[in-house]
Amino acid sequence: MAAESNNPPQPPSQAGTDTAPRKPDPICAVIARTRHDMIHAEVMEAARRNVMLAELRLDYLAKAADFGRLLADKPLPLLATVRRREDGGRFKGTEQERRMLLRQAIVAGFDWVDIEEDIIQSVPRYGKTKRIVSYHNFKEVPDDLHGLFRRMHEADADIIKIACMPREIEDVARVLDLLRFTKKPTIALCMGDMGLASRVIQGALGAPFTYAAINPERLPAPGMLTVGQLQNIYGVRRLNKETKIFGVVGDPIGHSLSPIVHNIGFRKLGINALYLPFKVPEGKLSNFLASHSALKIQGLSVTIPHKESAVHQATELEPLVAQTQSANTLVRTASGFKALNTDRPAILDSLVAGLPANPDGTPGTLNQKIAMVLGAGGVARSVAHALIGAGAFVSITNRTDEKAQKLAAEMNCRHVEWGMRLGTLCDILVNCTSCGMYPEVDESPMHKSSCHSGMVVMDTIYNPENTLLIKQAREHGATVVTGLDMFIRQAAAQFREFVGQEPPLDLMRQVAKNALTPISVRKDNRPAEEKEEAKGKEEPGGEGATDKAGGASA
Ligand code: NAP
Repeated sequence: MAAESNNPPQPPSQAGTDTAPRKPDPICAVIARTRHDMIHAEVMEAARRNVMLAELRLDYLAKAADFGRLLADKPLPLLATVRRREDGGRFKGTEQERRMLLRQAIVAGFDWVDIEEDIIQSVPRYGKTKRIVSYHNFKEVPDDLHGLFRRMHEADADIIKIACMPREIEDVARVLDLLRFTKKPTIALCMGDMGLASRVIQGALGAPFTYAAINPERLPAPGMLTVGQLQNIYGVRRLNKETKIFGVVGDPIGHSLSPIVHNIGFRKLGINALYLPFKVPEGKLSNFLASHSALKIQGLSVTIPHKESAVHQATELEPLVAQTQSANTLVRTASGFKALNTDRPAILDSLVAGLPANPDGTPGTLNQKIAMVLGAGGVARSVAHALIGAGAFVSITNRTDEKAQKLAAEMNCRHVEWGMRLGTLCDILVNCTSCGMYPEVDESPMHKSSCHSGMVVMDTIYNPENTLLIKQAREHGATVVTGLDMFIRQAAAQFREFVGQEPPLDLMRQVAKNALTPISVRKDNRPAEEKEEAKGKEEPGGEGATDKAGGASA
């Protein structure tokens, strides 16, 4: 039987009147629960969140499906799926029983049904139920992806869905490329950490919707994001083919705050842009840029382990990058990418802002100040470099002494043994170690007696913002500069380079703070957009911002 329509699902109540509520977001909420009452609760939540469709994973049900209960008074279109074990499902019966359940779901009146490509011929079209032809591969992206896609195109289906596990970064690009050539509504995404960006970007590449979990505690597929994340961090309802793509490249990347702050900035300024976390393994930055060229990425934040290799991908280097051979930003130019370093100005600006004014009232400077840098990793190198460049007398100390000695020799500055750090006097102390970072929040790299008034203490750690060191320094009268301050300043500098506009700094800082604050201690943890709509203006934070790690692997 021919398809009635190829249009993506629309709830009947949204049929184009001026007074109709906001169009549903292009998200299919995946509901994978064992009990009917819990399914009902999540369906209501999906409707409250105004998503386009809810997928009921019938393979999760502990008892026989009661279609009367599942379909009674449904507040949004429902999709029936009965996934086999080899496709990541939990169905325990025989294949014959599974197909029977699919047919029963169609007859019972589900709006949509998901049928795997290899069995679609054996489940006939019936009534008004629309069909998704799907392919899942939890091991790899198949070599003959195009052959598979051709077959799926020929199937009697309204939407094509492909979800595969990438092994290489190029695999993600191969899957996303399908969206450029398809003639039918198609969702083509990758699973796992490496596939995270591919789940978000669907709408910008013309897909009718993307999938997300309604419940952050229960992610039915690796790397699946939550509805809250897609709505509040990524604003997927605004995506279209004109959306400009930005992102951060690194590994690991799942806990990066950068998508939260950049995306809220874009939204506040009404810029049609999307900032994505791209997990790119070490040594693969050039493969990523080459394979993802069709996305026309406009700018990238660069983090560990790509700061050095980013320099080699650029066609233009700002002088500081040429000098340090390390970049944290790539910005698209007519000839390729320009490499910049926004860490150094962010470090200097943060420290100078924390310095007390000179006795004559002029702003304090770093020149001739005595500074001690704790740590000898990547951030310690940037901090030491920035301080020396600003005229400070720097000493470096590190738990592993050889590394401190090596860095100090390279920077031509003093080295202090780790055991001697408490007795070393300084005007400025910068912690560039991970000591005190979540979850080790009760640790400090210094003793509280080392901090005193007149001193500036900076901690580069931003999770938590108020580390034990920062608390100790504050208690002893020192001026403090937090890692969040540094993070926001470097992100703001990137934002200016990306879009040529002044970022909404306070809002970016607030969303970052909210994302770092446990839900239990937040006063108002409603999603950002809800608050925005309630107050008629954009507001930060929310569930989406906090559950960004999303449980599973992304
Ligand atoms: P890295 O290269 O891995 O260096 C880590 C440093 O921390 C090393 O010197 C290490 O000493 C030291 N360290 C780790 N655990 C320690 C402990 N328990 N006690 C004493 N020293 C310890 O890391 P990185 O990239 O430089 O990052 C360092 C810090 O900067 C991290 O906390 C990170 O959160 C923060 N950061 C902040 C921003 C921002 O924008 N605010 C940006 C990036 C990073 P050993 O050599 O002895 O192992």
